[in-house]
Amino acid sequence: MIPTRETFGNIPHESVIVFYCLTVVTMAVFANGVWRRYRLWRQGVPISVAQLLAGNLREIWSKLRPGVGRLLEEGLGQARVRGRGLPSFAHIWLFVGFMVLLLGTTLLEIDHLASGAFQALKFHKGTYYVVYEFTLDVFGLLFLAGCLLFLWRRTRRPPSVGHRGTDWYVILSFLAIGITGYLAEGLRIVWQHPTGIAAHCSPVGLVVSGLFSSMTKSGASSAHLTVWWIHSMLVFGFIASLPYTRLFHTIAGPLNLFFAQPVLGRMVPVTMEEVEKTERIGVSAINHFNQQQLLSLDACMECGRCEEACPAFATEKPLSPKRVVQNLKGLMETRSPKSETRKKAEIRDPNQPAQPRLPFRTSVFGFLSGFGFRVSDFPLRALHEETIQLETLWSCTTCSACARVCPVRLDPVTLITDMRRNRLGEGALSGTAATALRRMQSSGNPWGLPASDRANWAEGIGAPTVKENPNFELLYWVGCAGSYDRRAQRVAKAVVKLLKQACVNFAILGNEERCTGDSARRLGDEFLFQELAQANIATLAKYNVRRILTHCPHCMNSLRKDYPQFGGNYTVVHHTEFLEQLLAEGRLLVPEGGPREEAMTYHDPCYLARVNGIHEAPRNVLTMPPGGRAKPPAFGLREMPRGREKTFCCGAGGGRMWMEEEPQKRVCTLRAKEALATGATTIAVACPFCLTMITDGVAAQTESTQIMDVAEILAARLKL
Ligand code: SF4
Ligand code: SF4
Repeated sequence: MIPTRETFGNIPHESVIVFYCLTVVTMAVFANGVWRRYRLWRQGVPISVAQLLAGNLREIWSKLRPGVGRLLEEGLGQARVRGRGLPSFAHIWLFVGFMVLLLGTTLLEIDHLASGAFQALKFHKGTYYVVYEFTLDVFGLLFLAGCLLFLWRRTRRPPSVGHRGTDWYVILSFLAIGITGYLAEGLRIVWQHPTGIAAHCSPVGLVVSGLFSSMTKSGASSAHLTVWWIHSMLVFGFIASLPYTRLFHTIAGPLNLFFAQPVLGRMVPVTMEEVEKTERIGVSAINHFNQQQLLSLDACMECGRCEEACPAFATEKPLSPKRVVQNLKGLMETRSPKSETRKKAEIRDPNQPAQPRLPFRTSVFGFLSGFGFRVSDFPLRALHEETIQLETLWSCTTCSACARVCPVRLDPVTLITDMRRNRLGEGALSGTAATALRRMQSSGNPWGLPASDRANWAEGIGAPTVKENPNFELLYWVGCAGSYDRRAQRVAKAVVKLLKQACVNFAILGNEERCTGDSARRLGDEFLFQELAQANIATLAKYNVRRILTHCPHCMNSLRKDYPQFGGNYTVVHHTEFLEQLLAEGRLLVPEGGPREEAMTYHDPCYLARVNGIHEAPRNVLTMPPGGRAKPPAFGLREMPRGREKTFCCGAGGGRMWMEEEPQKRVCTLRAKEALATGATTIAVACPFCLTMITDGVAAQTESTQIMDVAEILAARLKL
């Protein structure tokens, strides 16, 4: 006999009709929930989906491919969920089990509909049936295991993980669906009494059927019908409530993975025309975010990874990226048409779509939304100060740790910098950072020192300017710190010595160089940044610069990612990459018997390692063996627990370099502690900001550890 079973075996015809009626109702509730969320996202500045679908098939595919790749790798492949022990296992098991069960149920329904029309189309039989039943049986266990792990985790409630009453509903309904599924299967086996392979292809169901072995066939049949209905109602309830619970991330998450802006460290420019049109700069109301940003708020499942990675949160500053996202989400849900901010936004920007009509909580499904989302937590709030505090915005170092760890590619950094732009435009930045911005504007550097002194550091060391060496091949971009800060000047001098030793044909801009404007842009002063960038781009064009070397990761990131937005396209290398290349080519050679510091650790700068993915080059330079790369490394670095792309910020990024910090709450102190815990007597860095901050952090704890740039260490090894 060919092994198979009826999809609705033992289910009376009337029950099947009721089942399909309930399916329609469930899907309607589900669709209504999704539509309501979609209307909330539509408040935002439109994103151009139509542009994605413009052009011929090849062009369309080239635009869609990155998003599809992220969906496959990070959605289906769970790439960003992996690597965190039990929570990762719990999510992956539950996800894989759920997807297999969903696929199985869909196939079952297709078979039912197909064979209902034409019996010959029935495929749920024979070998397919055996493989199908076995697979679903096993993956059902994986699903239950994932649920149990989540249940256990929720009872422990790590502080970084958000928790709501509905989370219990979600997990318990998942568990109940899994358990009733197995019970229904066990009872089916009892009343149907399959034999041979048809009985054994559902091993878990077979074991469960043992619980009911004393039942008569008719008793098992009745019990099966009851359990089948309970199981179906649980599934209906789960599907209907999905848009109203944390589980909505299963829809918003993949959508955000598809639409997200995937480049860390890149900011969207603002034009004067936009400001004139909207009469504002940056984001001052929730509908000033774009639609993808609003969608991303719904993708957040409050896993807390961003909070755990955030240096501001770790040092008790009033910033948690998770909270920022959740507070903005709460504000989005209030849809406060009567609030002052909202009214202003509507008057100023008549092109924005109108607000949805009814308050969410008064809708037919309000009880569900109140159950799932904290709709009424944020009645008629303004964005700034009432929802997001000024101190919260200025606390961010734009280190991108939060964006890097988020499983659904939420980008709190951009949310924060967009809001900063508005606050800065409204004159809300004061103190030392505001002074630094004023100095950048007046003198072209944050110290406010004369532009004519910019190249004083280079006197007598033979660093030619572009005028002195017009045929240069490489421009050395020194940056403000290298030019004016006494400690960072020693790094610039070391770089020059190494370049000269390797006979590199280079030049510096000298007094014609200006601040790149990185800090200005990340603090929110977009137009100061643009002014500085345009001046620099004009200077670089005057000398036909194409290749730039810099020892500052912030300058590098700005030249690489900001400047092309204004027509400045260059090949920009960090000095650690360039030095690695010179060593590999044999143009620099580490001598035998030179000084070397084996008790050494290396601090990865955020803008170098995480934002631009450069972490091996500095390590290779530091550990280069005498005679060249063919030999094993000269020694092993003492690695800190958080390194490479998972590095921990020094506290200076995002313009924080120019702000005061409470001594007990300094990010650099925390990072210096981690570095000192390795037992290193030398801490290597590759960024002038890190050099300052880690030096400060170490000085507060010990005097016996030296902090040196990679270039200084190499120059010392080469006895230069
Ligand atoms: S923003 Fe991302 S990392 Fe942070 S809590 Fe939400 S989902 Fe998790
Ligand atoms: S960019 Fe860094 S400091 Fe800012 S919120 Fe994210 S993790 Fe925190």
